[in-house]
Amino acid sequence: KSKAQQKGRSLFFNESINKQVKRDFLIESELREALSKNEFSVLYQPQISVDSGKIVAVEALIRWYNKILGHVSPDEFIQVAEDIGMIHDIGSFVIEQALQDILHYNVKHNATLELSLNISPKQLIETNFAEQMIAAIEQFSFKANLVTLEITENIFISDLDKVQPILKRLRDHGFRLSLDDFGTGYSSLSYLSNLPMNEIKIDRSFINKLLVSSQSEALVKTIIAIGQFYNLTVVAEGVESKAQFERLKHYNCDLIQGYYFDRPLSIIDLHAKYSTHDVS
Ligand code: C2E
Ligand code: MG
Ligand code: MG
Ligand code: MG
Repeated sequence: KSKAQQKGRSLFFNESINKQVKRDFLIESELREALSKNEFSVLYQPQISVDSGKIVAVEALIRWYNKILGHVSPDEFIQVAEDIGMIHDIGSFVIEQALQDILHYNVKHNATLELSLNISPKQLIETNFAEQMIAAIEQFSFKANLVTLEITENIFISDLDKVQPILKRLRDHGFRLSLDDFGTGYSSLSYLSNLPMNEIKIDRSFINKLLVSSQSEALVKTIIAIGQFYNLTVVAEGVESKAQFERLKHYNCDLIQGYYFDRPLSIIDLHAKYSTHDVS
């Protein structure tokens, strides 16, 4: 390579790093104001029973739209929110908004739609989360057994001791607990025997490869069997095609979530799309 080419490359490299640094900086500074500027919203993605074909639950997914940054994915900003100590306030916002929306939905449609909430490990450990959660459902007269708390598997080997009693307290109070992104962590199986879970969610990456890799297919089949062995609800996330759905049905997966049925919906679209008739 010529000097000029090398220089061009490193210039480009520096520029792209520079751009990323600027973006990170902006995300951090804009995030601090986002709550007070009302920039967050919550969408709801249906989870469908494979047996009945009916919607049984929705997963609340946060969205952030900022004037300068545009849409920022939670995969990008949740980590930052954890780092700058904003995850508690953002988490509370999602919990309250979602409880309010789904309570209203259930009253209006005379339904018992369940609600899944993503809980960041930091949120779980660093505050009196269990007491907060209990207070929140009491405030909205929401039933604990209609609320599932999703905790990602990719965390807390080191925090297991701290997490265990908090999860136990929540479970004892009647909340359902779900292990999100199952299969991607280092010790999926030991989590299952050490934590009081009700549900596992097979990570999207396995569902993606379900029909193209026999290894992934074997893995999915095995995860479903393990879930059944432990008496857990098994949810497949990221289901995008009928063929994937049929295969998961064949292996007796319980619930299906993904673009094949629905993208995450605004509460208005959820009301419009699912009338009492469709709800179990
Ligand atoms: P997750 O909990 O594993 O959520 C599933 C993600 O997969 C969501 O991305 C959802 O929009 C996406 N998805 C669902 N079906 C499909 C599909 O068929 N195809 C594809 N390609 N994607 C699908 P999203 O909304 O961008 O959220 C990303 C992650 O951010 C979530 O992963 C969760 O870990 C985190 N997150 C989202 N909302 C919250 C929140 O309120 N609090 C916390 N702590 N984390 C959140
Ligand atoms: Mg989740
Ligand atoms: Mg997941
Ligand atoms: Mg995820």
